[in-house]
Formats: sequence, structure tokens, C-alpha cells
Amino acid sequence: MASLSRREFIQLGGKAVAFSLLPYSPSPILKYNSMTDNKYFDVIIIGGSYAGLAAAMSLGRALIKTLIIDNGNPSNRQTPHSHNFLTNDGKTPAEIATLAKRQVSNYDSVSFLNDTAINAERTLNGFKIHVAGGENFETKKLIFATGIKDTLPPIKGFSECWGISVLHCPYCHGYEIRNKRTGIFGNGVTGFEFAKLISNWTNDLTIFTNGDSSFTTDQKNKLHTHHIKIIENKIERLDHSNGYVNRILFKDGSVLPIDAIYAPSPFEQHCKIPEALGCELTDEGYIKTDQFHETTIKDVFAIGDNATKTRTVANAVAMGTHAGMTLSKKMIIEEF
Ligand SMILES: Cc1cc2nc3c(=O)[nH]c(=O)nc-3n(C[C@H](O)[C@H](O)[C@H](O)COP(=O)(O)OP(=O)(O)OC[C@H]3O[C@@H](n4cnc5c(N)ncnc54)[C@H](O)[C@@H]3O)c2cc1C
Repeated sequence: MASLSRREFIQLGGKAVAFSLLPYSPSPILKYNSMTDNKYFDVIIIGGSYAGLAAAMSLGRALIKTLIIDNGNPSNRQTPHSHNFLTNDGKTPAEIATLAKRQVSNYDSVSFLNDTAINAERTLNGFKIHVAGGENFETKKLIFATGIKDTLPPIKGFSECWGISVLHCPYCHGYEIRNKRTGIFGNGVTGFEFAKLISNWTNDLTIFTNGDSSFTTDQKNKLHTHHIKIIENKIERLDHSNGYVNRILFKDGSVLPIDAIYAPSPFEQHCKIPEALGCELTDEGYIKTDQFHETTIKDVFAIGDNATKTRTVANAVAMGTHAGMTLSKKMIIEEF
């Protein structure tokens, strides 16, 4: 199938764009159709959650022919309520994503494919992307909005409670569990720094080191001064009801009632394609980018959780919007 230039695409799509200005959307969720649709895109976004959809909206509004490939596995999928995103505070993650997808699908220049990207290779003009469904797509620019995967400890009950009562961030969930019996699953510098922060939300705070603590004497004294307890017992399991933890059982048979636990967890990149393409990671494991979200590989961009420590829906959306605007501007100017 021949590739259309972006300007030819805009001319062909003019009628469709005008149609999309109607007060209703003719197709609520625009899907990629492998029988009829072209396989050449200006931009392919791998990952169609908050960051990817925000980038697609900016690109779509700039008439840039964009394909989103997503397999529907955002990191906050188990959280009952998402907080701290203005206009959507307290909504479920799915509600926010569904509305976002519906709004992005109003732009005819954006197509959506429900599949997993498994490989990307450089071509003369950009990149070829292979998906698990067996198809290939070509693009000039490539954006990864693929998020990260948390590595949870193999403690029974932990993953069932993840995002419900075992939490990663006080700015997302701290207000709802203020003044509750709160734990921190941590040790050493990370555990100590987290304890300082979380002490803002509750006076009933215990650190569970799950083995010998590695706090310095100074840190122990400071924790003691702030009435923060340290428990070194090894954890057997978390007892919970539908993900809401109610007590911790230790290997020595002891039990402690608890309402919530913070667990700053290690993580890995959700998608390994950026590394396979040669994108460098930071020491902490994020994809290295410049101020325009371009990675260390030309024409490859990374946005959202995969490239930042500031892990919130609002920040993922901000990064996506900025990347979509700056990349589309660059492409428009280059083509002029
Ligand atoms: C438990 C938990 C609770 C949270 N609660 C809140 C909260 O209350 N408020 C808040 O602001 N933030 C919250 N966050 C943070 C928030 O979820 C993230 O910052 C946000 O999801 C980041 O968006 P993203 O688009 O970068 O990545 P994600 O939302 O993780 O999406 C990445 C997408 O890429 C897809 N993908 C990955 N690899 C591929 C591939 N190879 N092919 C196709 N698709 C692929 C995934 O399926 C997924 O859909 C929470 C996070 C967690 C873990």
C-alpha cells in the first residue's frame, strides 16, 4: 500500500475532519481497520493510557496521522479511586481513561489498535513496528508511553491489596487514610525518608523492615522521637477483605492490626523495546529524555511514568500534551 504524505492525508481527510466538528461523534471509539486502513503513520504511540492519549490528542488536533497501540494494562488498574487530578478527583482509573479515549477518538487523524507492540526496527524513513497480532506498521516518529511495572514482594496478600490499601504515594491516597493505623514497608534510607514524609498524614506510624533493620543510630533516634515504631519481624501474610488490609501476620505468630501500608517498590520498564532500540536509561531506571521528551535515540520519544519519578495521572497527561505539541510543531516546520 502506498504511503500518503501528511499534506495529502490532510486534504483527503478534510471532509472527515469537518464531519468531526458536528456536535456528536460519528464513531465513538475510532479503531484501526486492518482491511481498509493505511499502515503508514507520521507518529506511532506505543501505550495508550493517560500519557499516550494526551499526546494523541495534541497530535490529532494538529492533523498529524497518528496510531496508538495499547494492550490495556495501566499500572493503576487495581485502584478503586484515582485522586489529585483536577476535574477528575475520586473517579475510577477506567472512568478517566474511557472519557479520554472517547475524546481522542473524535479526531479522525488518530487511530487506535488494541494489540501489543513486540518489536521496533529502524527503517530508512523511520521505524517499523511489529505487533503480536502479526501486523507491521511504519512511522516517522515513535513515542513510548508504556509506563512501568512495580515489583511487589512475594508476600501473600500484598498484590491483592496493591493500589487499594497497600499504596505507593501519599499525594494520591494519603488524604483518604489520614490519621489511620499506617505502616511503611521499607528499610534504610528509602524507608527513613518515606517515614518522614508519611508522618505528615498520621501519628500512628510503624515501619516494617521484614528482617533486620539497617537504620543508623541517628535515624533510629529520630524515628523514636517522632513516635514511629520499627518492627523487624518477618511478615508471613497480609489479611484483607477485598484488598483492604486489616492485619499483618508475622512468621513468629504475632499479629498487628493495620489499616494501610505504604510500599515504595522497585520497578522495571513495562516495555523493553526502547532499550532494544538503544535508548539509554537513567541510574534509577527511567528512560533518559531531553526537555522535548526525545530519548537518546533520534526521533524516539518517551513520556509518562517510563520517563519520570513524578508518578501521577496529571503529570503523565502534562508530559503527553507537551510532547504532542512540541513534536507536531517540529514536524510541521520540518515539512514547510
Ligand atoms: C497502585 C497505583 C495507584 C495510583 N493511584 C494514583 C492516583 O490516585 N492518582 C494519580 O494521579 N496517580 C496515581 N497513580 C499513578 C498513575 O497511575 C500513573 O502515573 C499513570 O498511570 C501513568 O500513566 P502512563 O500513561 O505513563 O502509564 P500507564 O497508565 O501505566 O499506561 C501504560 C500503557 O502502556 C501499555 N503498554 C505497555 N507496553 C506496551 C506494549 N508493548 N504494547 C502495547 N501497549 C503497551 C499498557 O498496557 C498501558 O495501557 C497510581 C499508580 C499506581 C501503581
